[in-house]
Amino acid sequence: MDGIDGRVRNAVDVWLRWLPRWQIGTARPRTRICRKCTGSPIASAAGFGPDVPHPVQHALIGRISTIIEDSVDDYTAKNLPLLQRELERAAARKRHEGYQPAEGLSPEFQGLDVDPQPQEGAPFLFTLEGLAGTGASQAAPREPLSDEAKAALRHEIDLSDECARSTGTAVCLALIDHRPRITEAVERLVEPQIEALVSDMFRGLEGDGSRGGLF
Ligand SMILES: [Zn+2]
Repeated sequence: MDGIDGRVRNAVDVWLRWLPRWQIGTARPRTRICRKCTGSPIASAAGFGPDVPHPVQHALIGRISTIIEDSVDDYTAKNLPLLQRELERAAARKRHEGYQPAEGLSPEFQGLDVDPQPQEGAPFLFTLEGLAGTGASQAAPREPLSDEAKAALRHEIDLSDECARSTGTAVCLALIDHRPRITEAVERLVEPQIEALVSDMFRGLEGDGSRGGLF
């Protein structure tokens, strides 16, 4: 398997191939804060300024976070047997929860709302969110953990957090090397779309007569 540097390079390559297909939306922006991107050190490492639209940032941040998650999964599977067993149990419980619309999406869509924003007076027939849990079945109950087992598990969770932190740092350092490529692509493919949208809005304002000459 590739090292961290190779995986980060590959994630940036994939994002650079995706970016030309991205088109600025004219829809009202979402008001809900994205837990993946808000305050993410990956965004600073990538050199994203506050003007870079969220979907553009999310697509890269999602792919880069996957590298960290995969490394932690790998480390856990190899070194942390108690935590691994807990995770497998949780995964089994999840399988009993039925249809999960937010699972298994490609990184561009992970962590975003699965349904479009509802419009007033036009209710949806159904939403994906509303279908969550369809096909659920009863999971087997589990035996309670002893105090020693809990302490041992907590220790393994600390180790896995430490792995996430050190991998996160390595990933961000590797990402800084790609900042020029990322910045160039944003300037070439994203900024002209923002400028076009803004000048369209200004043209609209000038077009209504009374405010002509304001800009
Ligand atoms: Zn996001």
